[in-house]
Amino acid sequence: MLRVGLGVDVHAFAPPEAGRRLILGGVDVPHERGLAGHSDADVLAHAVTDALLGAAGLEDIGHYFPDTDPRWKDADSIELLREVRRVVGEEWSVANVDAVLICERPKVRDYRDEMRRNLAGALGVEVGQVSVRGTTSERLGFTGRGEGIAAQAVCLISKV
Ligand SMILES: [Zn+2]
Repeated sequence: MLRVGLGVDVHAFAPPEAGRRLILGGVDVPHERGLAGHSDADVLAHAVTDALLGAAGLEDIGHYFPDTDPRWKDADSIELLREVRRVVGEEWSVANVDAVLICERPKVRDYRDEMRRNLAGALGVEVGQVSVRGTTSERLGFTGRGEGIAAQAVCLISKV
């Protein structure tokens, strides 16, 4: 039995004075601004988490980690993904994840492999089962204007 899930997430950049770090796929990416959010605002990890939850037919990420709960303030989203993998259960195995980060800057190429390792580690799969790519929106829209970062992911799971 196979099931596929789609995850989509968007976070706005916080103003520089907010002093937020930019965390993408569990990697602290050097950049002049970080993303705004209750947790570490890891837009990539959130999209992957929602893709996994969707594949399993569960509620969305906000149901498990509401942004009104102080427990998840500045939470490490890779750890939230690890927790969701546990919730999904051992009867499902993760076949693969494909994720895309949409932003003009920063360029994700140099950090992609580390992001893949972090996501794969949380999911308990091999690095080769997780792909992360970056793309721009050709300077169009909010990602093109550098107002935020969007991420999309699909996750395929199978039950033996
Ligand atoms: Zn998010």
